[in-house]
Amino acid sequence: MSSTIEKAEVLIIGSGPAGYTAAIYTARAGLKPVLYQGIQPGGQLTITTEVENYPGYADGIQGPEMMTHFEKQATRMGADIRYGIATKVDFSKQPYKVEIDEEKWIESNAIIICTGASAKWLGIPSEQRLNGFGVSACAVCDGFFFKGKEVAIVGAGDTAAEEAIYLSKICSTVHMIVRRDAMRASKVMQERVLATPNIKIYWNSETDEILGDNKTEGVRIKNTLTNSTIDIAISGFFVAIGHQPNSKIFTGWIDMDDTGYIKTIPGSSKTSLAGIFAAGDVQDKIYRQAVTAAGSGCMAALDAERYLATLEH
Ligand code: NDP
Repeated sequence: MSSTIEKAEVLIIGSGPAGYTAAIYTARAGLKPVLYQGIQPGGQLTITTEVENYPGYADGIQGPEMMTHFEKQATRMGADIRYGIATKVDFSKQPYKVEIDEEKWIESNAIIICTGASAKWLGIPSEQRLNGFGVSACAVCDGFFFKGKEVAIVGAGDTAAEEAIYLSKICSTVHMIVRRDAMRASKVMQERVLATPNIKIYWNSETDEILGDNKTEGVRIKNTLTNSTIDIAISGFFVAIGHQPNSKIFTGWIDMDDTGYIKTIPGSSKTSLAGIFAAGDVQDKIYRQAVTAAGSGCMAALDAERYLATLEH
């Protein structure tokens, strides 16, 4: 480790709604935050199209444009926003240290982790090709665009069940593709899915191909018991097979649940280590909305500010 380590009063890792909101609040509090944007500046919203449910945008806004607004606002407040990836951490003692781009270290007494989560994808070429053209990993974000149309959803956990029910209220039919003969979702969610007349379940089935050239027009499903395939005409294809929190570099330093989500003390952004805070999707597997991430970024900024004040006394 180099002897000339840069110091930041507050260090924010990640640049989704949580990270930028934490930057806006800490900058306004005069804490001169340094924010590293990470591998995907702007986060998951930069790969969505229209955002219609973020309050304040009466006419909706494109996800990438909204994140540009977040960044501009944080910069205007005085946050130091940098392109760079946190590659390693050393939280063994205060001040905590974070390695950036495997080449330099920066230290701080207050670190706000906002590294988000990434949707898991099936990994088939047509899914990648039609991403944003009918293929989505967020029913709450994009379901509305398929009002009155037929859609498919793949997955059978609580997220898929919840999203299938959500879609069933908007779309004419929801074709639910389940890879086993059982669902992983909680019993109550399974019952709700089964009781919804316009959700049609395909058991023991996998997605062979999403059909369409420039937009999603159908899906080819393969029954894994019989190897037979069927084509279904759909306009939207939703992938709900889970998310992966981007928390790997923090493993072993702070408490996480068994799927890698950072644990925060309920009602706060505090992690198991004093001075380390977490906000946004990296600590939230339930809500995962831009507005809830932004709200938790605000909480983390206020928690960090209070924590730093206690160090001064
Ligand atoms: P889960 O990991 O619980 O479920 C993923 C689902 O996707 C499983 O049914 C799995 O099938 C299926 N799957 C995984 N990979 C593939 C693939 N390649 N092809 C087809 N299917 C696949 O993820 P969730 O996002 O649903 O939930 C994550 C956590 O969040 C859970 O603990 C859940 O309970 C919680 N949650 C709670 C909510 C609530 O309380 N309201 C709402 C949403 C989530 P298989 O079963 O065969 O492995």
